[in-house]
Amino acid sequence: MKCEYEYGSLIGDAHESGGPRFITSNPARPSQKVGSYACADAAAVDRALGIARRAQRGWSEVPAIERAVLLLRLVEGVEKRADDLARAITLEQGKPLAEARGEVMKACAEARAMAARAFDAQGSLLSSPRPGYRIGVMRRPRGVIAAITPWNFPILTPMRKIAPALVFGNAVILKPSEFTPAAACLLASAARDVLPAGVFQLVLGQAETAAALVGGRGVDGITFTGSVATGRKIQVAAATSLAELSFELGGKNAAVIHDTDDLEETLDHVVGAAFMCAGQRCTAISRVLVQRGLYDRAQEALARKVGALVVGDGMGAGVQLGPLTHERHYESVQAMVQSGIDQGARVLAGAKRLSLPGLESGYFYAPTVLADVRPDMTVAREEIFGPVLSVLAYESLDEGLAILNDVDYGLTSAFFSNDARAVERFVNESQNGMLHVNHGTVPDNHAPFGGIKHSGVGAYSVGASAANFYTTEHTVYWNHR
Ligand code: NAD
Repeated sequence: MKCEYEYGSLIGDAHESGGPRFITSNPARPSQKVGSYACADAAAVDRALGIARRAQRGWSEVPAIERAVLLLRLVEGVEKRADDLARAITLEQGKPLAEARGEVMKACAEARAMAARAFDAQGSLLSSPRPGYRIGVMRRPRGVIAAITPWNFPILTPMRKIAPALVFGNAVILKPSEFTPAAACLLASAARDVLPAGVFQLVLGQAETAAALVGGRGVDGITFTGSVATGRKIQVAAATSLAELSFELGGKNAAVIHDTDDLEETLDHVVGAAFMCAGQRCTAISRVLVQRGLYDRAQEALARKVGALVVGDGMGAGVQLGPLTHERHYESVQAMVQSGIDQGARVLAGAKRLSLPGLESGYFYAPTVLADVRPDMTVAREEIFGPVLSVLAYESLDEGLAILNDVDYGLTSAFFSNDARAVERFVNESQNGMLHVNHGTVPDNHAPFGGIKHSGVGAYSVGASAANFYTTEHTVYWNHR
């Protein structure tokens, strides 16, 4: 039976549909096949790299402002396809349709903000102690960029890489997740309408295709979003090419509730940031650390709020959480929750598979809250990437900040307090790339995005920081005598 999406890789200006195929399915109804895609083998990836190298030369000569104009045309093309993209995202990834549409809009807003970077200063001038000398520091496009993306944001993450790559004058080859490639295929169709051939290419496939790309000849930079385990493999592969790296990896993000005038509002922020995209966001709040005086009230309110969340097929009206994206991931979330229970956590909500009428085989997991979690438990330390919130109590601010920082990750964090000194300590001491005071962990469209510790390697993406990865820096000494 024909699938709704049938695509091959975009190499040069042609879609290649030969070779072995892989299939995607709807996580709400796993027997429903959604997409059928031709895999790019190592030879196809090598061809794409050669084409990218040649196309990049011409593209780098297009003035940055003209490149931005073309990027904005691409954004228009994406916006025109917003309904189709949202449908593709919901069918393969599972999130509610309104959330999928919001993802498309955010991708466009970020790309527009990135297009504006074409008007930034392209360097700086320094004086020299040598008479008659001047020093210029300038930037050039890095060259050919390999972009590898995961399944949780099928359009936002690819666009977050393609927009800066293009505006800074690079050619880019995208390998989207094998679970959710439809959105990237629609993006490639939009790109084909407006960009010179070879400047943006798409290679479809699984880990082998991605590995061929990151280990391929002539890759100047690798931008990767995904798990720490895969990040490590890419770092090893890049040891040969010494390609520049920019990684956005996992997180174990916490919200610390130190004091609050309005616990209900505070917990609305926490629940929103924890359960959007069924918790499958790298910036999802996964731990909530509550000052002991608020602990009992927080437990009652969290159980009530999380118990009221509506789970269902993302195509249905009023659904707040869709299914988990694939079976293996579903099993890993379930095993993590069980490990928490085995180690002494108390279930306040969820912690079970949901069997929804007509959707019995879907990967639906009940939104879960675990209380009495201790900092040494696996659920308090390792990424779950699902609809699971662990609640921990602390006594002093010192203890709260120590628990916040005592994990391998360092992506994002939130702190709720009206005490200026406590807020100041959080801002100075939280070991995370992004810090939010008195709201959840949802980032804006133009500010640096990234993490420290095991959550990131290299330059942050989004905003001005992107130039550090997508361009190379050159220092020029002029003797005017
Ligand atoms: P993953 O690491 O399994 O896969 C990500 C991508 O890497 C896929 O396209 C996959 O095909 C590719 N890949 C697999 N093996 C490879 C190899 N050997 N070499 C090169 N590429 C390879 O991640 P996932 O399961 O798709 O996504 C979930 C993970 O992504 C979570 O850990 C999450 O925290 C992380 N994530 C992080 C951010 C962030 O911005 N920090 C955002 C979204 C997701």
